[in-house]
Amino acid sequence: MPETSQERYVQVLIDQPLPELDRLFHYRVPDGWDVPLGQQVWVPFNRKLIAGWVWALDDRPPENVSTVQFLAAVDRHVRVPDDVRQLVDWMAHRYQCTRTEALHPCLPPGPRQRPSRWVMLQGTMTTEERASWGGIDPDAAAIIARLSRAAHRQMRLTTLLQPDRQAQTAAIERLIRAGWVKLEWQLPRERPPIEHKTGQREQTPSPWPPLTAEQARICEHLATASGPVLLHGVTGSGKTEVYLHSAREVLARGQRVLYLVPEIGLTPQAGARWTERFADYSVLLLHSGLKDRERHGAWHRIASGQVDVVIGARSALLAPIDRLGLIVVDEEHEPSYIQDQDPKYDAREVALFRAHQQGALVIMGSATPSLEAYWQAGMGRLQLLTMRERVTGAALPPVTMVDMRAELAAGRRGVLSQQLREAIDQRLQRGEQSLLYLNRRGFSTFVLCRECGEVLTCPHCAVSLVYHRAAQVLRCHYCQHRQAVPKQCPHCHSEAIRYFGTGTQRIETELLQHFPSARVLRMDRDTADSHGVEQVLNQFARREGDILVGTQMIAKGLDFPAVTLVGVLAADLSLHVPEFRAAERTMQLLTQVAGRAGRSKQPGEVIMQTYCPEHYCLQAVENHDYVGFYRREISIRQHLGYPPFSYLARVLFTGLVEAEVAMAAETWAERLRDQAKSIGPLEVWGPAVDGIAKLEDRHRRVLTVRWQGIDAEPLRAALQATNQAYRRLRGRPAAVTVSVAIDSAAEPRV
Ligand code: ADP
Ligand code: ZN
Ligand code: ZN
Repeated sequence: MPETSQERYVQVLIDQPLPELDRLFHYRVPDGWDVPLGQQVWVPFNRKLIAGWVWALDDRPPENVSTVQFLAAVDRHVRVPDDVRQLVDWMAHRYQCTRTEALHPCLPPGPRQRPSRWVMLQGTMTTEERASWGGIDPDAAAIIARLSRAAHRQMRLTTLLQPDRQAQTAAIERLIRAGWVKLEWQLPRERPPIEHKTGQREQTPSPWPPLTAEQARICEHLATASGPVLLHGVTGSGKTEVYLHSAREVLARGQRVLYLVPEIGLTPQAGARWTERFADYSVLLLHSGLKDRERHGAWHRIASGQVDVVIGARSALLAPIDRLGLIVVDEEHEPSYIQDQDPKYDAREVALFRAHQQGALVIMGSATPSLEAYWQAGMGRLQLLTMRERVTGAALPPVTMVDMRAELAAGRRGVLSQQLREAIDQRLQRGEQSLLYLNRRGFSTFVLCRECGEVLTCPHCAVSLVYHRAAQVLRCHYCQHRQAVPKQCPHCHSEAIRYFGTGTQRIETELLQHFPSARVLRMDRDTADSHGVEQVLNQFARREGDILVGTQMIAKGLDFPAVTLVGVLAADLSLHVPEFRAAERTMQLLTQVAGRAGRSKQPGEVIMQTYCPEHYCLQAVENHDYVGFYRREISIRQHLGYPPFSYLARVLFTGLVEAEVAMAAETWAERLRDQAKSIGPLEVWGPAVDGIAKLEDRHRRVLTVRWQGIDAEPLRAALQATNQAYRRLRGRPAAVTVSVAIDSAAEPRV
């Protein structure tokens, strides 16, 4: 008997997001192939050739399987690094999605490229033949190229690799002559290298200001920190400078830095500060305006270790960066750190996981930490560092409340109170700038019929349409629907149609009435693609505007030295959003905007208009008292059993046919209740119609689950088991989608 070489197998994760396929399939590795873990491969599956990923190596075939197929091709272009593979496993489990769903955002965008050089089988061949052939490994490209010139003149080749595989050449030639094989060619997509997006290569780094005493103290703590840090620093305390200093040390050690911001499109200033400071390093800005091709290039640059500093939103965490020394999560409290589609991950948790993998330091910074983070710090899971002073030494700006009930009683019905108008007037006379913030969360201008009370809603989503005055149209803020404003009520045909609400446009109009010569700039979702945002901000920074009116988008991270007045309209509006984090979010937003005032030499002032000045949330903002707010709010959460004193899961059912959605939700809920019996204090509420009953023509039902255990594992297990049981059910409405989101803010962090 001739010596048989060791058989080798791989377990492949199929590149399909279906839950049924979220398991590993065995394939045999043809002799002589080098197939490392994480490599992208192409495998025969249900008579098709599809992409997959080597998820495990094996030296024996699976049990109970008679024939194991061979790998068809290896794509050397993309390989999932080991730590990303572990991250994917962890995310899939923690956030209840398939591994493929978790993997996709970790990869360069776009469909999996068909191998750019591969050979397609025309006939059938025995596995032995295929194995001995082994030639569709793209490493054999050079060989194929030689053949291609003879056989297929129109083919082109862009890359030549290892031209030394004689045996394979012969095999391929034989196969082609026999008509077994046809060569197919696809050009690899161009991958232009991404240059410094700032174009500042030539520039010398901008100077480093000496640290203040408080900053220096914090930096010392950070240098010796043994675990993740929560940096609670008042607005203007110079947290960014602290991040930059820590980053500099990490880079000097030859390690890499990841700087996360909530929404990169809205914070061009932040990116600029980093790129200027680290002009000597290779800094990559993963902003939302990048085209797929550029993202692709960015991924490969990061993967090949060419990037020292990555700046981006939450998804930057999933990039294949290694040798990480520091991850900064700026504005840690921002809800946009949670992704609302599968994988529904929380970037703060993922940051901790990534840092743990690579031994990096995590700094989570905020002037208003999320309640959970502050609580986690209290539990000793994060190290709390506090900065109490502004860099300039100036006090935080005084906050004055204007009670709008009194305004109304005095017969003043405008959007701007008298006090605010006077304050604006002062600024105009002194040549200083004002920022007017419209707290519009969950609020917009809608159209209502005064005869029958009908509110115009989107035909695809059960939400009211928003009136856009500039374009004179009604738009749905959830889908792409837009329509003209009707002359008559579609319901009762009355012509008494009225607009309600206080949009930024209306404020702009009122401002121009009072201050005809003021230069007013406006920024909201209408003005703003990311380009528009940058343009308006730059204009304001160049002092080409006296007043900037805007929504949430002007709350974050902006640093305009000439702004001495911040006015907040309808401060209490977001308190009435029906969710348990409403007070927390309101406090955070208002503190952020208030923090935009008086950041330089001239002192600042904040005026907040409200209908309930006595609310503890607004009181906390008025008194700059985060800790007071925290104590009050955390005791309410504890009393009501909300996170972080419980885990809440939201199971969302959507589908085109309402009755099917309702039935699916009922059935699922029933299964879960069965599960709940065996695991203890699991509460199942609903199903109920979701807050948005219909979205993009899909009806929505929601189930809320509460679990008051120490960790969320039993809850995850119950949800998973329910999902599995449900999928096995005959006659279930197959067209209904089930999606699970767990609020795991309380979970011991990694
Ligand atoms: P935060 O992020 O805490 O709100 P920033 O880091 O944006 O604060 O700093 C506020 C302002 O103070 C910025 O204009 C920044 O350039 C400036 N600044 C920060 N640290 C120093 C320092 N050590 N010396 C001089 N200016 C500083
Ligand atoms: Zn819609
Ligand atoms: Zn009507």
